Amino acid sequence: MNVILFGPPGAGKGTQADHLVKYFNLHKVSTGDLLRNEIKNKTKLGDKIKILINQGLLVPDDIINNLIINILSNKKFYNRLIFDGYPRNLDQAINLDYLVKKYNQKISCVLSLKVEKETIIKRILGRQTCSKCGLIFNEYFYPSTNQNHSCGIKFLVKRSDDNDKTILKRIETYLAKTLPILDYYKKLSLLHDINGKAGIDQIFKEISSILASLEG
Ligand code: AMP
Repeated sequence: MNVILFGPPGAGKGTQADHLVKYFNLHKVSTGDLLRNEIKNKTKLGDKIKILINQGLLVPDDIINNLIINILSNKKFYNRLIFDGYPRNLDQAINLDYLVKKYNQKISCVLSLKVEKETIIKRILGRQTCSKCGLIFNEYFYPSTNQNHSCGIKFLVKRSDDNDKTILKRIETYLAKTLPILDYYKKLSLLHDINGKAGIDQIFKEISSILASLEG
């Protein structure tokens, strides 16, 4: 199955994706992570991407589509993808439909995490990512401990776009460009609403039972 995790920035898509990958043998596709990798490699494209990300704007569709083609065409990940932060606008959603058909796959469901603005801002300001293993933590709500993270705290970093000013622009971009996709998936009967305000374990349980019912 291929699954889309949908929601505003800070909704917990990445955290849920990390958990689901383990339990359902899925491969996580975070376009944000792929773009940050490009920045890390200090390519010319990376420099261009960095400016857009730090302004809270979307990166052009052609760049994103190339990343997605590489993954969908890879037989290793056939029909076991979990998308986090993609698609981000209607054109990307339409292109994804085209690509899944082309590579003989399908989208099994779209899980929409519902969280209000105050909560996502708090979550974003506390977010920490491990630069070694890529796992996501939150210094207030889900701190890295010996039990949940073997790399230790020394690799934890903050994202450059997780600041007060960029957050507001990212939310604006989400409302204008990304939110309208929901209607598209509703019409395709793929949409499941999830209460994203609940705790990590509770959300995981709810999502797991949806995915288990799709598998059966
Ligand atoms: P994320 O890690 O999903 O929060 O994404 C961080 C930033 O990367 C976004 O604010 C965008 O600037 C960019 N980005 C990530 N995914 C996409 C996408 N599918 N389309 C366009 N821009 C994206």
